[in-house]
Amino acid sequence: MPSYVILEKCDGCKGQDKTACMYICPNDLMVLNTETMKAYNRAPEMCWECYNCVKICPQQAIDVRGYADFVPMGASCVPLRGSEDIMWTVKFRNGMLKRFKFPIRTTPEGQAKPDGGYGEVTTDLASQCLYNEPAALKLDALPTLKK
Ligand code: SF4
Ligand code: SF4
Repeated sequence: MPSYVILEKCDGCKGQDKTACMYICPNDLMVLNTETMKAYNRAPEMCWECYNCVKICPQQAIDVRGYADFVPMGASCVPLRGSEDIMWTVKFRNGMLKRFKFPIRTTPEGQAKPDGGYGEVTTDLASQCLYNEPAALKLDALPTLKK
């Protein structure tokens, strides 16, 4: 089920131009109500529950009601993100708490190599071909608009 903002916890990322949840959502769903300074999911039906906004929110103000294959019904899963790992606190509906810590990186912060260690990247990052490989579409080149 889609993400939703717990209004009492959201501080609007202290009025920054772009809030953390707006920055991270790959579907561009999170927006800030500049009158209330609270964020909200503007199109819940488009949310794919990727949990990015849940994990990045510095106030733990976003939640997703998980499906039963992820967490028992009625439980909440709250992440606390560190630079090396995320601590998940699962609160079951009978009040029981469980905590799990998962590492989130294999490379020290700031030391990831952009080319992944495969040598110099020669691909034109602005190329439309990065949309997909033409060969996969059985084309010599991707069609483009006439100029
Ligand atoms: S990231 Fe969290 S605190 Fe910041 S605007 Fe979004 S919901 Fe509110
Ligand atoms: S769960 Fe993912 S898709 Fe849904 S609002 Fe959050 S970041 Fe966007």
